[in-house]
Amino acid sequence: MSILRAVKGMNDLFCPELNMWQKIEKTAAEIFSAYGFQEIRTPILEELSLYVRGVGEESDIVAKEMYALKDRDEKMLSLRPEGTAGVVRAVIENSKVGLDGELKSFYIGPMFRRERPQKGRLRQFHQIGAEFFGVAEASVDVEVIAMLHDFLAALGLQDLKLILNTLGQPEERVDYLKALYDYFVLHSDNICSDCQRRLQKNTLRILDCKQPQCVKISEDAPLILAFLSEESLEHFNEVQAGLTRLSIPYEVSPRLVRGLDYYNRTVFEIVASSGLGAQNAVAAGGRYDGLVKKLGGSDVPAFGFAAGIERIVLLLIEQSGAAQAIPLDVVLVYADSIGKEKAFELLYQLRRKNIKADLDHKSRSVKAQMRRADRLGSKTVLVIGEKEVQEQSGQLKLLSTGETLSVSLVCSAIEEALQIN
Ligand code: ATP
Ligand code: MG
Repeated sequence: MSILRAVKGMNDLFCPELNMWQKIEKTAAEIFSAYGFQEIRTPILEELSLYVRGVGEESDIVAKEMYALKDRDEKMLSLRPEGTAGVVRAVIENSKVGLDGELKSFYIGPMFRRERPQKGRLRQFHQIGAEFFGVAEASVDVEVIAMLHDFLAALGLQDLKLILNTLGQPEERVDYLKALYDYFVLHSDNICSDCQRRLQKNTLRILDCKQPQCVKISEDAPLILAFLSEESLEHFNEVQAGLTRLSIPYEVSPRLVRGLDYYNRTVFEIVASSGLGAQNAVAAGGRYDGLVKKLGGSDVPAFGFAAGIERIVLLLIEQSGAAQAIPLDVVLVYADSIGKEKAFELLYQLRRKNIKADLDHKSRSVKAQMRRADRLGSKTVLVIGEKEVQEQSGQLKLLSTGETLSVSLVCSAIEEALQIN
């Protein structure tokens, strides 16, 4: 029979690496909650039209990366390729944000894109994202970027760079897009076939192309700053001043655009200087003041980001080494049936004190139980037999040094002895 395999680009996850994921998710929840963000969970399947309207028909995601399927009523659905559109749909549908309403939401979960799998690029990947609805002020851009910065710093990640740009307002972009078009049309024979399509339908996205010939041509493309209104320039200056006040270093990159169509004004990426190869963006986001209205809600400004968990894990492993298994505190080893009874009694008492305790269910020899304890990486073992039960005392053995310690066979005494060691 042929071996069943996971879908290409969709990974199984195991401990101890998964312990890193749990730590990342817990850290995010703690820090985001200090910033007043609350978790939101939305379905993994949505109507496909949500992404066409929300992310944009000409985005790579919608043009070629969606996992679409037909429901029984013929309605087209898609596995979510990103989180923002679903969150926006949910807050509109459930009236969570009105005209003056503010809402701070964060989400954690899997996203699906039919990309070519490579290091840091999967078909099922996971994002931690946050969205701040209801405020157009630049200080919100600063707050959300600061929260992401604090989160990545709390994980101990190093050598990250915050890259910042502004895309202005849609009406300011009209002339800019014309200038971009006029520039790229002169080079249309030398840009990649994707960009030739973008040239007609979404010129801005050429600046986001990773093909070397397109990157080279983009270097001399017109810059957006010259086309911005006073207000947009002021907004961008305020974001920069706010970040500086918080001592968050950044770099302005006038050619940074995002792959999704809904952004205006501030856009940013956090990239790793090394360790991720071509997939160096750890997180990205920006302002999307028009999206809530575009998806049928009120005119509510918003700002958000998404960070890729797989890329964070790759960086953590690169910078601090592979994840280590969390060791057991103690394995109770029994020598006979009386010892086994006592061991079971203590086992559950210890676990109820959050002590990582285990024993061998299979009544094997003391030697075999000891080998198992070693294999499981327990810090200590406690051997219990009829004699120990009678004396109400046993020897707690430290597996790293072989040292032993007399302990009473009561939960509190074992707990205390484990704390010392
Ligand atoms: P890239 O330019 O690397 O394709 P993107 O612009 O498509 O990224 P976003 O849609 O902004 O990325 O998603 C935000 C973050 O999610 C990225 O910075 C990255 O960390 C992560 N991410 C995006 N696509 C993938 C993927 N296919 N596999 C793993 N992580 C991903
Ligand atoms: Mg992408």
